[in-house]
Amino acid sequence: MTRLRDGYRALLLDLDGTLYRGAAVIPGAPDALPAGSAQQLVYVTNNASRSPGAVAEHLTELGFAAGTDDVVTSAQAAARLLAERVPPGADVLVVGTDALAAEVSGAGLNPVRRFDDRVPAAVVQGHSPQTAWPDLAEAAYAVRAGAHWVAANTDRTLPNERGLAPGNGSLVAALRAATDTEPEVAGKPFAPLLEDALTRAGTRAALVVGDRLDTDIEGANRVGLDSLLVLTGVSTLDELATAPPEHRPTYVALSLDALNHPIAADEVELGSSALGELLGAEPARAFRVRGGAGDRVANDGATGGTTPGSAAAGGGAATGNGSGNPIALSPR
Ligand SMILES: [Mg+2]
Repeated sequence: MTRLRDGYRALLLDLDGTLYRGAAVIPGAPDALPAGSAQQLVYVTNNASRSPGAVAEHLTELGFAAGTDDVVTSAQAAARLLAERVPPGADVLVVGTDALAAEVSGAGLNPVRRFDDRVPAAVVQGHSPQTAWPDLAEAAYAVRAGAHWVAANTDRTLPNERGLAPGNGSLVAALRAATDTEPEVAGKPFAPLLEDALTRAGTRAALVVGDRLDTDIEGANRVGLDSLLVLTGVSTLDELATAPPEHRPTYVALSLDALNHPIAADEVELGSSALGELLGAEPARAFRVRGGAGDRVANDGATGGTTPGSAAAGGGAATGNGSGNPIALSPR
């Protein structure tokens, strides 16, 4: 039997809510992604606060086989965007961590924290727990003076052990309110970060795996990739049941282990009865979502026949389970 993951040459893996929750690894996640696979694993994070090396070290401590080159961060994507927008060596005002400043420097630009006479060519904003009013004020002056504004990501919240803290998006909102300007955004659900992850993977035959409909799944849909929603993090079955088309994944599963099993014969249909029971009956398997991204792929053939999207749909119908009916899921 063909496993779900066998249809893809690369997996683009979200981190928080998919591999770990805060400080704790999600049980079974490292075992679902064993070392030595021929498949390319790319670890993709919207959080711009840590360097790729620090992220890889954290993942390794938790039991994942991640090297620095396997990690793609929104700080890297933001720095790449900046290098495309402003001249080499230009001043970039950094609101964020030293790791973000290092990416700006690595892209051939000059990170600054304040400015006097010479207005910086750009402002880049990523999460840092140290960001304070003077940092936002510098950024507001620069944006109002014409600096190009790039946000690493716009996640409004940042889950931690105590609950939901303000994420980078909340501080972006403050700057937006102060400047009446919209930033260019590097992270999911916008394309730059996932495009960088695809470049790193060296293939577009990739499956996006994540826990958030509004970042991971919408991001996959924007760049035309199949996606797997795992229910180990932020997004819930209720949210999936009422998800607008742009938030619908190709597959849904209880956990990452579904990558290592064939997909279930039944499909789930958004909007009517109970999905929880269905997933509970075959907890190791992913279910194809009717009306999800896979249908788009199957219908328009945009990504060719090598992804399992269209193959899986045909296989499900051919092998079936006798009912031939999608199994419904409802908001509760
Ligand atoms: Mg996540």
